[in-house]
Amino acid sequence: MRTGELFDLLRDGRPWTRAQLAEATGLARSTVTMRIDTLIRLGLVAPYGGARSTGGRPPALFALNPSAKMVIGADIGATHARVALTDLDGKILGETDAQLEVAAGPEPVLGWVVETVRELVEGSGRDIADLAAIGIGLPGPVEHSTGLPINPPIMPGWDRYDVPARLRADYPVPVLVDNDVNIMALGERRAFLRDVDDLVLIKVATGIGAGIVSGGVLQRGARGTAGDLGHVRVRDNDEALCRCGNTGCLEAVAAGPALAAAVRAQGEDAKSGGDVVDLVRAGSLVAMSVVRQAGRDIGEVVATMTNLINPSVVVIGGQLAGAGEHLLAGIRESVYQRSLPLATEHLRIVTSRAGAEAAVLGASAMAIEHVLSPDVVEAASEALAAADAAAERA
Ligand SMILES: [Zn+2]
Repeated sequence: MRTGELFDLLRDGRPWTRAQLAEATGLARSTVTMRIDTLIRLGLVAPYGGARSTGGRPPALFALNPSAKMVIGADIGATHARVALTDLDGKILGETDAQLEVAAGPEPVLGWVVETVRELVEGSGRDIADLAAIGIGLPGPVEHSTGLPINPPIMPGWDRYDVPARLRADYPVPVLVDNDVNIMALGERRAFLRDVDDLVLIKVATGIGAGIVSGGVLQRGARGTAGDLGHVRVRDNDEALCRCGNTGCLEAVAAGPALAAAVRAQGEDAKSGGDVVDLVRAGSLVAMSVVRQAGRDIGEVVATMTNLINPSVVVIGGQLAGAGEHLLAGIRESVYQRSLPLATEHLRIVTSRAGAEAAVLGASAMAIEHVLSPDVVEAASEALAAADAAAERA
């Protein structure tokens, strides 16, 4: 077992003794000691202070050192942007947000990100050398392996723009890019559902999409489009024209613009999904019934998805989640009616608790996952060994 994999055990947040690590890995105690020394020199592991004294010398304990490095989580939305600096446990050390149009193009938007990263690192009192990675979420399809946005509908000028290269020009660290819904799912899980291995986060806002975590792993699919629920067809809506060119898509009947239109058609004033949420909160019966029907339509797709992938938690996030129980009630109605009893027996359908923070927390989690992955830690320990060998020869 390599140093990177030994380190993976230490990521569980509990302190370990050398003996426990030797037993868990099957490595000799002397090998464990050597690898722990390497991890301590890399700053990733630190002696743990919680050892209680029982008269004799207590066994030394070791644990992940979350303050060893910092990462950036950035969330670029359609009209807002938020950047957070966190430690390796996802704890926020500093955060900034701004009203920013993604349609302004990659140069001004990423220029703002670069400047904000600088301010946050300076504000933390730490050195820029402690920045280990940047995670960033964009409001459109992203090819995760390359970090390129691919034909993003609301992002003119961004198609195949090299986001990682732009950020690396200022910060030479790994840059991970994904779509906003995937990082929201990661963020919600990291903040509130760490023990949940099978969850789906559905963002209901101007569009509808889902981030799917299955078996503890975010599922991106072959090209990164997994979870694109917005363009699944729902029943009895053949006249609803979708921006994708098809008719009857979920997004065309249950996303913010469709709900605002449905509310207007019944004589109330609403320009956006946010206005519909405000009306629901103000007690508008029209808005409540429109939202509940949207819930049923979303629930129809969620029911199919529940049968396919059997999540234990479905989290509803995005602007329309602000309609709370009115939306959830409609979703539950369809899901319990149409999914198999075994799939729904312990299924929880809830609104997002991370809310507006979900995306930055998830972008940070994506960066942390990379920095602490066995392969990256292994490469760092090999580089350290090579440097030692070179120093000895000199
Ligand atoms: Zn569509």
